[in-house]
Amino acid sequence: MSLHGTYDPDNIFAKIIRGEIPAVKVFEDDQVLAFMDVFPQSRGHMLVISKTSRARNLLEAEPKTLGRLIGATQKAAAAVAAALKPDGVVVTQFNGAPAGQTVFHLHFHVIPRYEGEALGRHGAAWRGHGRCRSPQDPGRDDRGRALGGPVADGAVGGDDQGSQLNGFGDVVHHPGRQA
Ligand code: AMP
Repeated sequence: MSLHGTYDPDNIFAKIIRGEIPAVKVFEDDQVLAFMDVFPQSRGHMLVISKTSRARNLLEAEPKTLGRLIGATQKAAAAVAAALKPDGVVVTQFNGAPAGQTVFHLHFHVIPRYEGEALGRHGAAWRGHGRCRSPQDPGRDDRGRALGGPVADGAVGGDDQGSQLNGFGDVVHHPGRQA
């Protein structure tokens, strides 16, 4: 019944929002937070969450929350495209454990894709080019520690991705918009 259930205020993302566990934050305002995925499927894998909603998944999301969230996701994709110059960007979102969801706080994945680089497995360590590791990084096989306990600052999301993506800035251009 993971598609339907009660919001757990002690889920990992709620703890990140409250500052109880660290994360490499890329963008934050009063409504949304974007941070690096601890088990990146590619270099620059980011997550975008609402800071105010208790929606566990897309089905439970209030339209207003969804609007803010998808807007921030668009910015995250644009920031990743500008900073890391990937060849493509995948945006994913899972609802319920059988669909692949492991953290039951609504979130979007922003996953840059690089020509010729395989996509890492969802929820597993990505080791492409070894760039996912930093001196502080104990290794993303250590899923229990990452999920359950504190993760050292700088150990999340790879060497320099957080700083490269530091803030979204004015990254979204709307060529379709009338002047
Ligand atoms: P999902 O499986 O779609 O629910 O996505 C949850 C994502 O959260 C996975 O990609 C995990 O790698 C990621 N994740 C789990 N714990 C953390 C954490 N402490 N910091 C950052 N990302 C995390």
